[in-house]
This record gives sequence, structure tokens and C-alpha cells, in this order.
Amino acid sequence: MLNLHNTDQIKSKLNTTTHPCYSSKAQHKYARIHLPVAPACNISCNYCRRDYDCVNESRPGVTSKVLDPEAALERFQIVRKKLNNLSVVGIAGPGDALANWEKTKRTLELILQDEHENNDDCHSEINFCLSTNGLLLPELAEQIVALNVRHVTVTVNSIDPKIGAQIYNSVNYHGITYTGTEGAELLIRNQLEGIKKLVDLKVLVKVNIVMIDGTNDSHIPEIVKKLKELGVFTTNIMGFIPVKGSVFENRKPTDPKNIMKMRLICGKHLQQMSHCKHCRADAVGMLGKDCSGEIFEIRKKCKNHVEAG
Ligand code: SF4
Ligand code: SF4
Repeated sequence: MLNLHNTDQIKSKLNTTTHPCYSSKAQHKYARIHLPVAPACNISCNYCRRDYDCVNESRPGVTSKVLDPEAALERFQIVRKKLNNLSVVGIAGPGDALANWEKTKRTLELILQDEHENNDDCHSEINFCLSTNGLLLPELAEQIVALNVRHVTVTVNSIDPKIGAQIYNSVNYHGITYTGTEGAELLIRNQLEGIKKLVDLKVLVKVNIVMIDGTNDSHIPEIVKKLKELGVFTTNIMGFIPVKGSVFENRKPTDPKNIMKMRLICGKHLQQMSHCKHCRADAVGMLGKDCSGEIFEIRKKCKNHVEAG
């Protein structure tokens, strides 16, 4: 049995060159798979409606089927055989990877074990990747790294609790619900502490920022400067998309021209990602060339597949 804490048994390499999100060149060469094992979320963003995927990392309006860890392993194995250029396994919802920690952890353990037993030189090395709102990062950072995760995306929409209070409806931390500036302050504190911990542990941190006109748009350069100070690798400023049924359903979507302008301003401080494709929580393949048809076939072939969400 693979000892996950024995680093001799785990190849751990910071690899941006084979991660399609961390390198715009890699997007044309390497594929990724998102495994939708994380349905729950511990915060409530005003732009989210929980019966859809996390809009921080996924195209809204597309409901994912949730897999249990065994079914996720099976899906990974099928895709691994098909795609020699598969280089990333990510847990990106449909809720929050850390709010479903036991399932996320079990999935990564199963895949690590499988890679240890079966990988050959014909296949790219796999990078593990998580996306999270960051609430539980301070307490889970070491465990994340012990699972060989070297790429983490955190969504940070504000570093000012007053602005955060306009974006986050509530924050549920260890069973207690916090609202208003109290909730936002707690979330922001944990996000910044968690990011710092990850950077100190040599994880490449990408931060998504949802740009919401009239709420956090003019605050974004301040967020980016703080993230640079913490050692974040890149920021991905994303447009806000109104989701029907969410608190912000009647807000205007962000004008793409304003996003480009903001990326130029923030690019003076920190490198900017501009090729994000707002992927689904069950995306497979190269960015922008999702193997959706094949996913459907894969779903049918996975005997352990459970539709929990
Ligand atoms: Fe929705 Fe926000 Fe949770 Fe993502 S982090 S699932 S957007 S509430
Ligand atoms: Fe990469 Fe953006 Fe897709 Fe996430 S949503 S996998 S950051 S391209």
C-alpha cells in the first residue's frame, strides 16, 4: 500500500508547463479531468444558486452528476487510458473541494495509489489540482500537500469585509453560520492565512476574482497587490454572470472590455490568466475542446457511477 506521507514514494514537482490553466502554451498540448465529487458548499455567494455548479470555477447553468470516490477513480482510469496527454486531475466542485474533504481526500488517495501501481512512461505525469473558496484552507493546507496537490485555486472576491458582506450571504464555519461583515471577515482571514500557508508549502496558488460591477470592481487592484505580497502565482479575473434564482440574478454581467482593462491594470503587479474557459465540474479534455460526447459514453461505462446531485 502506498504510504501517502512517504514523500520518497510520491513524485512532487512544481509543474506549470504541463498544466493547461497555469500556462497558456500548455492549454494547446495537455488535457485535464475534473472529478465532480464535492457537491456541498460552506459559504453562500450572492451570485450562486446551489443547484448549479460552483460559478467560481464552472459554467453556470450546467448541473453536474456527482460521483463517489470509487466512481471518480473509474472515470479517471478510463480517461487516463484514452488520453495520453492527460496531465491534470482537478476537484472543482460542483460545490467546494474542502467542504467535502473526506470525499476529495479519498478520491485523490485512490488515484495516487492507482498511479503508483499502473503509470508507465507513455503517459504524462499527473498534477493534482483543487479549487476552493478557502474557508478551510488554514486547517487543511498540510493535508492537501501530503496528497501531492501542488496547484490550488482560491476564489477571493474581496479583502475588505464591508465589500465582502455585499458578496457573501453567509459563511458556515464548523457548524456556526456567520453573516454580514462578521462572516466576510472570517472568510477573508482564512483565505489569506490559507494562501500564505500554501505558498510557504511550495504550492502554486492561482486566485480567481469574480468582477462584479459596482461592488468589487474598483477594489480589485488592491486585492491583487495583497495577493502578490503573499506570493500568489497568478490571478484570473473573471466576469460576473447573473444566475437565475441567485440574489444577484438581476445584476448586469461584466462587460468583457472592462475585464480586459482590469487585467491590464493588475498585470502591472501580477501575471494574469486570460485563457480561462469557465469549465464544468466534470470537464474532460483540453481547454475549450471538451470531450463531452465521450464523457457521456464514460458515464454509461462506469458501473459505480452514482447520480447524487
Ligand atoms: Fe456557490 Fe460560492 Fe460555494 Fe462556489 S463557493 S459553490 S459560488 S456558494
Ligand atoms: Fe482552468 Fe479556468 Fe477551466 Fe478552471 S475553469 S480548469 S482555471 S480553464
